[in-house]
Amino acid sequence: MSVDASALGAHRVLEPDGVLPQVAWKLDATPVARPNEILCDVEALNIDSASFRQIAEANGGDVDRVAAHVMALVEERGKHHNPVTGSGGMFVGRVRSIGETLAGQIDLHVGDRIASLVSLTLTPLCIAAIERIDMASGRVWIRGTAVLFASGLYAKLPDDIADDVALAVLDVAGAPAQVRRLAQPGQSIAILGADGKSGMLSCAQARERVGPQGRIVGIAPDKSTQAARLLVDHGYVDAFLEADARDAFAIMNAIPRVLPELADLTINCVNVAGTELSSILLTKDQGTVYFFSMSTSFTAAALGAEGIAKDVTMIVGNGYAKGHAATALQTLRDHPPIAAYFTARYGS
Ligand code: NAP
Repeated sequence: MSVDASALGAHRVLEPDGVLPQVAWKLDATPVARPNEILCDVEALNIDSASFRQIAEANGGDVDRVAAHVMALVEERGKHHNPVTGSGGMFVGRVRSIGETLAGQIDLHVGDRIASLVSLTLTPLCIAAIERIDMASGRVWIRGTAVLFASGLYAKLPDDIADDVALAVLDVAGAPAQVRRLAQPGQSIAILGADGKSGMLSCAQARERVGPQGRIVGIAPDKSTQAARLLVDHGYVDAFLEADARDAFAIMNAIPRVLPELADLTINCVNVAGTELSSILLTKDQGTVYFFSMSTSFTAAALGAEGIAKDVTMIVGNGYAKGHAATALQTLRDHPPIAAYFTARYGS
């Protein structure tokens, strides 16, 4: 079977020649729907957490400088592809037009509101103006357009969950879906970055899967955050370890207290670099580490495991799993305390 390169957006690549949009340095973001494309009016970008944190830090947390940075980045590359973290995010918007090859072939109509489920690192994006930035959540409201290719994934926004909340969940949909697949009854599970978006949804799925015989330990720098307390109070974690996951010695010293048997499965949901070794140290021999974090270094993970002679299976956090959007939204519906927290934190 041959691959239709235009369905993957190859025709939008400006430089270098011969690559697909995710790898490209620059895309053509011209706001027209070519035959197998969907053109959307974009309302908001949900910048990937690792990327937004890097941009915010590089600009001293100044909202105007962050806006100028995002504008310049998209202007230069025709997509929101942070060259430092390599990550992007997703958008929410409304379908403006559908190319003639796709029209009638997909379950989408002009006017539908959707969230993109493919990364902004491969999505042609044009920003006319930035209207507002929420520095706490990494949400950027814009006037602009984006193009989805025939291969692009999207989700219609659900009727029963506020848009901003759905967007926060869909951004990290891969994590709870993968935890649902990986976690087994009775297992011990460690979740780094437990009190963030993907971390909380992962805790909820882990709790469902391991059951009362299993053990879940959340890890983050501050156990007094509202989210950390929620996880403890509602039994999503059996223990919460306050630690900096970049400090492998601290993790090594603390872990016998909370998880002496080590983890069958470790889920890394942090938004900072340098946590590979801690994740590996936390995990049993023959256990599994799932690196959802975009700050993960393949080299640090591979050489780190080898360096401490740890035979663990390490999984790259594919942002996509079949049915991941539905699983992630259902996780929220099934866990009212987490839904209430997301609504307060990410709802507008
Ligand atoms: P988030 O809501 O910002 O949460 C980040 C978490 O990391 C928070 O719990 C934070 O704790 C914790 N953290 C920060 N520094 C830490 C440290 N030194 N030690 C331990 N924990 C630390 O992020 P998110 O939206 O869930 O995203 C999490 C990661 O997934 C990011 O790297 C993001 O880029 C990545 N991601 C991956 C995909 C994919 O397809 N694989 C898709 C979307 C996002 P505090 O709150 O206390 O700071």
